[in-house]
Amino acid sequence: MPLIGVLALQGDVREHLRALDEAGARACPVRRLNELESVDGLVIPGGESTTLWRLAVAFDLLDPLRKLIAGGLPAFGSCAGMIMLADRLRDGAGGQQTFGGIDMTVRRNAFGRQVDSFERPVGVAGLDGAPFHAVFIRAPWVEQAGPGVRVLGRDEGRIVAVRQGVLLATAFHPELTPDRRIHELFVSMVKGTS
Ligand code: GLN
Repeated sequence: MPLIGVLALQGDVREHLRALDEAGARACPVRRLNELESVDGLVIPGGESTTLWRLAVAFDLLDPLRKLIAGGLPAFGSCAGMIMLADRLRDGAGGQQTFGGIDMTVRRNAFGRQVDSFERPVGVAGLDGAPFHAVFIRAPWVEQAGPGVRVLGRDEGRIVAVRQGVLLATAFHPELTPDRRIHELFVSMVKGTS
């Protein structure tokens, strides 16, 4: 069983720990560099990306995490976590930085101008069965994705799920619903079987 860390600076850490456990991984909260260096994969939870950024700076994790992700650490980010995995950010707070890793431009709070939070089925490439019941909360969307990025899902044309190599990101929160297919996909990416 792979050991997957959930970045425990802020956000819905417990929900991801539980989802990973149900998806067949060992899961642990991580917030120190030595803990990060001992996991096979990392989940960056939903929450508030400006807070994640500020705390990552305060805990001296921004550059080390950038390097770990650029060096091939598998990572999955949901919502604020998707923002943190974006190489480029629009509508960030002044000076807001990300870990990067995925060659994409993400617009923060993108759906917010239309509707704050909503739930809708999203067809996700690579998942067997019905569309995924996706929960969006002040969600970002992917405005532009580079050639190496595989678009896995869209909501009304907007890109809301992507994969680039061993990096996975969703604008919605699969940790908040009982369907474990997205976490299972990430576990198989960490194992190298998907
Ligand atoms: N809008 C939040 C941000 O900028 C993300 C919201 C979420 O993770 N549910 O980080």
